[in-house]
Amino acid sequence: MEDLYAILEVPRDASQSDIKKAYRKLVHQYHPDSHPGDKEAEEKFKKINAAYSVLNDPEKRARYDQFGTTGTGSNPFGGMGGADLGDLFGDLFAQVFGGGGFGGGFTSRSRPSNSPRQGDDIEQIVHLTLLEAMKGVTRDIDVMKYETCQHCNGTGAKPGTKPETCPRCHGQGHVRQTQQSFFGQFVSINTCPDCHGTGKVIRDKCDECKGSGHVRKKHTLEVKIPAGISTNMRIRISGAGDVGENGGPAGDLYLVADVEVNPDFERDGADLHTTLILTYPQAVLGTEAKIKTLDGTEELLSVPSGTQHGQTLKVKGKGMPKINSKSVGDLYVHIYIEIPKKLTDKQREIIKSLADEMKAPVSEKDSGIGSWFKGLFS
Ligand SMILES: [Zn+2]
Ligand SMILES: [Zn+2]
Repeated sequence: MEDLYAILEVPRDASQSDIKKAYRKLVHQYHPDSHPGDKEAEEKFKKINAAYSVLNDPEKRARYDQFGTTGTGSNPFGGMGGADLGDLFGDLFAQVFGGGGFGGGFTSRSRPSNSPRQGDDIEQIVHLTLLEAMKGVTRDIDVMKYETCQHCNGTGAKPGTKPETCPRCHGQGHVRQTQQSFFGQFVSINTCPDCHGTGKVIRDKCDECKGSGHVRKKHTLEVKIPAGISTNMRIRISGAGDVGENGGPAGDLYLVADVEVNPDFERDGADLHTTLILTYPQAVLGTEAKIKTLDGTEELLSVPSGTQHGQTLKVKGKGMPKINSKSVGDLYVHIYIEIPKKLTDKQREIIKSLADEMKAPVSEKDSGIGSWFKGLFS
């Protein structure tokens, strides 16, 4: 398995802000826009994003540190491209942390009694794109949960038969035991060993549920995910967890959001960050630049003259909505000034005379391949 830290070229003890910095640099370097048709760069770009989606999230990073390098031996990148890493981890985490829920765990189902008991809670991860998190989305969510066995109506007895009153405890679920001791006689009340406290015994068990009265089945729920949701936020759907026992209420379903990293827009709470590449003349003289926003619209951004490399400009109200609120974050545009590596002869002339005018000494020798080539024939 490829090391996620190695992909982002950071040490294992890198701070979150170092990881962020490394990501920004690499994403810039391998962005498909600057490498059209380059499969290798595209793969690398996917891996960088997948690695970042884990390491940028302190909770996921901690899990990766604990389970990531030891483990299954399978290569998460093999054959399916780095972008699927999120799903793979999602499943792994669901197995490790979800499923049993936090309402009582796995053991409680094998501890029957005749008192009402609430069903277990279920926790499940929902993967969302950043755009879905911005707009909100209605999703069909498949949930595996325990429900009442329809075959036996939850009795656990084969249809046509009935659970019988336990002859040992006469349906009480507990038995009194009188013991003689040195100090005299004492009575203890214990759970009936024959019916395990249910007060009933099943002679012929239901084939569907093997006598438990409940079966695990897939349910599809339509869930509205609110705009502004972010990773690790939970949505609670009351009563959508496992069925209760002996008339107890059902557990709850918790959906845990996992919002994908978007390579063009970095999220910081309700604000988004993007980059704008300018030429030197544009930064010096100012320009009107078209900015792509997350929802696909274009904004005209006025770049003032004298804009510096690394400066940030703000587009108000083009960030993420704040959850359960009417306010919206902003879009911050980070300015990169691109220094050209290739120049036409004319551009070189102009830059040289600009350098003269600014009294900025520059290399007289021209190292460009064009003039070297020309030199051969002059
Ligand atoms: Zn049944
Ligand atoms: Zn009994």
